[in-house]
Amino acid sequence: TTRQLIMSEKLAAIGEITAGVAHEINNPIAVIQGNLEVVRQVMGERADEARTEFRLLDEQVHRISQIVTKLLQFAKPEEYAGFLERHAAKDVIADTLPLVQHLLNKAEIAVTQKHLATRLVLMNRTELQQVFVNLIVNAIHAMPDGGTLTIVSRDEDLETGQGLVIEITDTGVGMTPDMLEKIFDPFFTTKRREGTGLGLSISQTLISRQGGKISVESRPGKGTCFTIWLPEAR
Ligand code: ADP
Repeated sequence: TTRQLIMSEKLAAIGEITAGVAHEINNPIAVIQGNLEVVRQVMGERADEARTEFRLLDEQVHRISQIVTKLLQFAKPEEYAGFLERHAAKDVIADTLPLVQHLLNKAEIAVTQKHLATRLVLMNRTELQQVFVNLIVNAIHAMPDGGTLTIVSRDEDLETGQGLVIEITDTGVGMTPDMLEKIFDPFFTTKRREGTGLGLSISQTLISRQGGKISVESRPGKGTCFTIWLPEAR
């Protein structure tokens, strides 16, 4: 019936919104977990005085991440309204790197940057940061034995118009052509525990919603390059 149809549409919409929110909660949780560990190390022996508090913090953060994981298991990413502003790619990347710095250090990954782009992009800052976090965290996962992360931005015109590209390149495990066909599919993941398979599909949704494009080149054993093209902000 019509009523059932509307109901199922509503449920689908709720699922999509939930996935977006849940995925956004994931990155701050990773930052909290990483920094909690750093604080404990910095405190040294004094950390013992706050043993109970640290245990509570660990437990509760773990609980949040389990809830988020469960939500993600049935929900799908959704497009939610964004607030658009003009940004220089290099500024947004400069704000993003500290969020993942502890992961880069731990994995012994060096970061090289070259920013030649003079054009600005029109995007929601949080969303653009989310895309960069997704790509950088994937690159880190692809380089368990260390390597180099290279981030380049430059002005470039596609057939579709003026814009700029941001390339995020790793020297990691790379991907086969078979894998490349599936990586933007929601829930496709090769990571057993920490994988949601939503990072790239959400990134692609966010970029294409701003009229941009995301593409990938990869060679097994050599590494991977993700290219984001975004139209110039006018
Ligand atoms: P998740 O990271 O949760 O698995 P993603 O959608 O971000 O979800 O990525 C999907 C899959 O694409 C990953 O599980 C991995 O197999 C592959 N992948 C993504 N980025 C890279 C990369 N830089 N190097 C190698 N494989 C990658």
